[in-house]
Amino acid sequence: MNKKVLIVGTGLGGLATALRLTTRGYEVEMVDKYHQAGGRLNRILKDGFEFDMGPSFFSMSYEFRELFQDCGIEIPFRIQPLDPLYAVYFSGRKNPFLIYKDLDRLAETFKIVEPDFRRHADRYLAQAREIFHDTEYRIVKRDFDSRLDYLLGLTRVPIKHAPGMFTSMWNRLGKHFSSEEVKVIFSLVAFFLGSTPFETPAVYSLMNYMELQHDGYWNVEGGMYRITESMVRLLEERGVKFHFNTEIVQANIAEGQLHSLTDHQGRKWNADLYVINGDAASFRGKIFKRKKFSEARLDAMDWTLAPFTIYLGVNGKIPQLHQHNYFLGNNFREYADTIFKSSMAPQKPYYYVNVSSKSNPQSAPAGCENIFILCPVPDLRFKKDWSDAEPLADQIIDDLSTRLNCNLREQTITRTVLTPVDWMEQLNLYRGSGLGLAHGMNQVGGMRPANHDEEFRNVFYVGASTVPGTGLPMVIISSKLTTKRIEDYARTV
Ligand SMILES: Cc1cc2nc3c(=O)[nH]c(=O)nc-3n(C[C@H](O)[C@H](O)[C@H](O)COP(=O)(O)OP(=O)(O)OC[C@H]3O[C@@H](n4cnc5c(N)ncnc54)[C@H](O)[C@@H]3O)c2cc1C
Repeated sequence: MNKKVLIVGTGLGGLATALRLTTRGYEVEMVDKYHQAGGRLNRILKDGFEFDMGPSFFSMSYEFRELFQDCGIEIPFRIQPLDPLYAVYFSGRKNPFLIYKDLDRLAETFKIVEPDFRRHADRYLAQAREIFHDTEYRIVKRDFDSRLDYLLGLTRVPIKHAPGMFTSMWNRLGKHFSSEEVKVIFSLVAFFLGSTPFETPAVYSLMNYMELQHDGYWNVEGGMYRITESMVRLLEERGVKFHFNTEIVQANIAEGQLHSLTDHQGRKWNADLYVINGDAASFRGKIFKRKKFSEARLDAMDWTLAPFTIYLGVNGKIPQLHQHNYFLGNNFREYADTIFKSSMAPQKPYYYVNVSSKSNPQSAPAGCENIFILCPVPDLRFKKDWSDAEPLADQIIDDLSTRLNCNLREQTITRTVLTPVDWMEQLNLYRGSGLGLAHGMNQVGGMRPANHDEEFRNVFYVGASTVPGTGLPMVIISSKLTTKRIEDYARTV
């Protein structure tokens, strides 16, 4: 068969699939709506500062190693383990909690608020560890041909984990820990899934095992965009052509197959196989006009929180900040219960702050820091109007300044604010949802939009809204599953 593949989207999912397919002899061409590669794994260069636009760290570093090994290449960037993993600041509390992987050290951190931390953590993490290893190969890293296949897959997971599908992460934490601070900190991983711990099933406590005992978190030397840059370079060396500022807006069907795609300027793009790295749910609705993915049906699905992001280049060093920081208030439950569905900007927002210049000094001019602030907010189904973006950014920056005892507004050299509208318009993120479809039990495994198309045998999907889910390592796993699908298909034609 002919082996020309068009990949729509140059996010990590698209790039990783392109690497795997070129390794297997396919000829690949890539188009993207955005002006440069990376999708959410992107960067902003402004006034001498470099900011990671989205992701700032990742777990499961071995998935990156596996990808490059599979392609016969040395890993083309250097990664650094984080230790401490992050710092958590509660309002009204002077010093942050530093979250170390070493549980004895962590017990020392928590000794005032949770005196028996080590014993409680050992029990909690032992259970989380079992969930991780009992589901890793049976569910997360495998594909399902149907919902039935998925349900059969679930029966291979030991039954003792079943309650974890029906109770929340917050409830489970309450069974193990008494201190509010420990429960809140352990439940932050739910936000990595784009949800709150009150909605996230307890089985995702496996993420606490991943951060504290398994592989931890990693940074990239020189900044996260080195991942994108190095992958693009490798692909160009393999003859892959990239076309940016090219949005696919229409599908052309012939004989039950996808025949070509049309971009916003009316240009046609032909290939034997198509891999869609744009959102696997909304692409089906918008481009393939599938009823199951109509706007009304998409709006009824569960989507992850939207990002409100601020990129601040400041004059002067901020020694009070660590590289990865969370700034939280004292009304966690109330805040988490309202942020999802409010039509208002959050009052006293909770937010994450990353300062990559701490370990990558070249990402800011000498004596300066690059500060990235991420505040999870409702998606555009709930809050459509973001004309209040600048006052909200001011409010967050002022709150951060007060907590750090400095004046970031006065120190600011450059400032960029992205609202959910920007994220939607720039990268086609549905309703501005930051991480794609949510990960409740009704939207994972065989219940998630599949990585092969229901009607066109020559169309496949890769990325955050297909299997297994969102986050950089999951998207790398997704590229592996999609490549396997393509190879299986190629054997039949
Ligand atoms: C603010 C933020 C912070 C995050 N932080 C982390 C983190 O710290 N660690 C982590 O592991 N994960 C993080 N994530 C999640 C992670 O970024 C994503 O899960 C991952 O990058 C998704 O990759 P992808 O390839 O699926 O999609 P994307 O990166 O979204 O790429 C899809 C590409 O397709 C293009 N496209 C879409 N539709 C079309 C079309 N019709 N025509 C042409 N092109 C199209 C888009 O322009 C885009 O470039 C974060 C996400 C956000 C938004």
